[in-house]
Amino acid sequence: MTCAVHEEAESIATCSSCGKAMCDACATHEVDGAPSCAACAELAMSRSEAIGGLVIMTMAAAYVAMLAVATRGGGSVPRLLGTGIAAVVTIAFGRGLLMAFRIPSHVQPRRGGEAPR
Ligand SMILES: [Zn+2]
Ligand SMILES: [Zn+2]
Repeated sequence: MTCAVHEEAESIATCSSCGKAMCDACATHEVDGAPSCAACAELAMSRSEAIGGLVIMTMAAAYVAMLAVATRGGGSVPRLLGTGIAAVVTIAFGRGLLMAFRIPSHVQPRRGGEAPR
């Protein structure tokens, strides 16, 4: 099998995202440890950033909503405890969201020449 871009070069790996055959020069990145072409690595990175921003915004909104719920009761729950619970629930919620979206945590330049076939 030869590289999808360089016809003369033997492919050493296939991109984990688009499945394109890549030679040593093309397999420039790793996404979560799997070989990836530059385009997919870039895509994964920007997607990860975009979703990360979305998750943070959602978490902020959830936090405010939780605060409103937690502190609405007045006397029954101390206000400080309410905000603490709201923070904990929001963080747990955010982590769940991150896992649900399976955001690539590691987009990195590939170490030379040792990518799995
Ligand atoms: Zn790719
Ligand atoms: Zn190539």
